[in-house]
Amino acid sequence: MQRFQQFINGSFEDGSGRFESLDPATGKPWAEMPEAREADVDRAVDAAETALLDGPWAAMTATWRGKLLYKLADLIAANAQKLAELETRDTGKIIRETSAQIAYVADYYRYYAGLADKIEGAYLSIDKPDMDVWLRREPAGVVAAIVPWNSQLFLSAVKLGPALAAGCTLVVKASEDGPAPLLEFARLVHQAGFPAGVVNILTGFGPSCGSALTRHAKIAHIAFTGGPATASAVVRNSAENLASTSLELGGKSPFIVFADADLESAANAQVAGIFAATGQSCVAGSRLIVEASVKERFLSILKAKADTIRIGLPLDMATEVGPLCTERQRLLIEATVQASLDAGAKLVAGGSRPRDEGYYYAPTILDCDGVISPSVETELFGPVLSVLSFETEDEAVRLANDTRYGLAAGVFTQNLTRAHRMIKRIRAGIVWVNTYRAVSPMAPFGGFGQSGHGREGGLQAALDYTRTKTVWVRT
Ligand code: NAD
Repeated sequence: MQRFQQFINGSFEDGSGRFESLDPATGKPWAEMPEAREADVDRAVDAAETALLDGPWAAMTATWRGKLLYKLADLIAANAQKLAELETRDTGKIIRETSAQIAYVADYYRYYAGLADKIEGAYLSIDKPDMDVWLRREPAGVVAAIVPWNSQLFLSAVKLGPALAAGCTLVVKASEDGPAPLLEFARLVHQAGFPAGVVNILTGFGPSCGSALTRHAKIAHIAFTGGPATASAVVRNSAENLASTSLELGGKSPFIVFADADLESAANAQVAGIFAATGQSCVAGSRLIVEASVKERFLSILKAKADTIRIGLPLDMATEVGPLCTERQRLLIEATVQASLDAGAKLVAGGSRPRDEGYYYAPTILDCDGVISPSVETELFGPVLSVLSFETEDEAVRLANDTRYGLAAGVFTQNLTRAHRMIKRIRAGIVWVNTYRAVSPMAPFGGFGQSGHGREGGLQAALDYTRTKTVWVRT
């Protein structure tokens, strides 16, 4: 069995405990992971604080920080295949997707590498003739970065990139479900030449390691991605250290199709929008809201596509849908689909386990029109699409906004003015029109409502990892 180590203060070491990681394609253990406990968290945070305040990182120019980030990006690109394979092996996310994602993980680091020496302070024109006043932008401090198991390399890049560009130091907690890619990524951080303690990467369980990290007295900011219930625990912990928080949480994103849309292209976007990553994506377009006059036609196109998706082993390049990451997730999905069918939802596609081994669940479509279906409300984080229909634009808006979440939305129509009305009326942090799931390092990403607060991506994210210092000089 492969053994992984964690990365504290520039060294690779075992954790206070160990645990086995399961291969989601088989359900069998394939690797041993270090388990960080409170003592490991303390050492990592101390190392990050020392690196922040003393030594080479604290004295380094922003341009040089940028160079280290460029180097890291190049190393990620050079090691893309290994990283992708490890992510696929440990989380079950298919190799097609992990390979494609690594390329833009490197792009995110390059974007923030370029920004490092473009973060500017300001000179203030104040109302006192004998004073010069300006603002310095300084690193916010030691950052705790917590990521869920899906897309750990990407979800850590959107935290590490801007935080390192701003001069912060970090303790990253990988998810206990599938930490291998981040533990391997630690080697690249080391190779790139970041001074000891600047980036520390641990893996451990939420209630022990995650909790110790988020309430640690030396943490200035918590960058968290995960579910809303965990976010509440994290925010409660931050009441102890008064750290600022950015929260990237779940979603139940509406995918709205008007009758005038190009239905074939909308169906392709919907299939990718819900079934990519086996539905384990925060922006999954999990609620189809389709104009009643084209509902049956659109559903038959979708069903044909869902029924012919190639389900297979995650390491096979031909596979289009792989297993879920954990059995826990599959059980939640199965229970919710069953409860939805009991409530009157109709099964259009899927609804079963397509393979005997591993945590597979078939791409599933539920017609939930006129039914109070739990699948419409609950974020399933799986390949399950709930379908609702509307007669009027107002009704489409009402259904779209009928959620406690507000992460993303898709609008499909050829009517430009209607698209603009919908953009204004939908309550979500991202609205995609006639496309779905596009991301870019330049574009902020984040939610409204219980999808969280704070934005990742874009220039503002780097500024969010700084604090201004107001300087007064008598002249
Ligand atoms: P989760 O909330 O269970 O876990 C996320 C992380 O928090 C893990 O590393 C876990 O160990 C840690 N954690 C758990 N309890 C903790 C505690 N008490 N204190 C500190 N840390 C703790 O989420 P998950 O099941 O791993 O991931 C799925 C969720 O993540 C979904 O809700 C999904 O929508 C969300 N997500 C959001 C985004 C986004 O950008 N908005 C992206 C991906 C996933």
